[in-house]
Amino acid sequence: MTVKRIITEPNPLLRQVSKPVSSVGPEERKLMDDMLDTMYDANGIGLAAIQIGIPKRIIVLDISKDEKIKEPRYFVNPVIKKKDINKSTYEEGCLSVPNQFAEIDRPSKCEVQYLDYNGEKKVLSAEGLLATCIQHEMDHLEGILFIDYLSKLKKSMIIKKLSKNKSNRIVV
Ligand code: ZN
Repeated sequence: MTVKRIITEPNPLLRQVSKPVSSVGPEERKLMDDMLDTMYDANGIGLAAIQIGIPKRIIVLDISKDEKIKEPRYFVNPVIKKKDINKSTYEEGCLSVPNQFAEIDRPSKCEVQYLDYNGEKKVLSAEGLLATCIQHEMDHLEGILFIDYLSKLKKSMIIKKLSKNKSNRIVV
């Protein structure tokens, strides 16, 4: 298992639409292991493959509060089958949009169909934080970031801030 570098906005890779996985084999499982390591290392609760530069429709999540008890979840080729008309609001952040947070409304419940770590077809009814996380991560597969839901002004301010941080970064 390896911790990978997380790509941050602005970066055209984050805007790419990820491709479906044809089957879940050793290569995909290795990718999911690396994604999970990378996510834990960065103290995140979700990660999409594109965030480490791989345009495959794979996401990992762990929303367990207890640090000692890990509850990793793996979703390959996830598809949302149903969405609740009611919305819930969470203050969202993103490992690819460091140190920026904003309140985002999303359907409060969703039903998602996917392949699990072993390639088995599963259906999950999610609500609350889990439903929001799944939808946030699935947006990554379409090249969408949470800042896209903000006003143009707010979004451009965030991107400006992030670009500035990038240009100040040096490697010696
Ligand atoms: Zn994200």
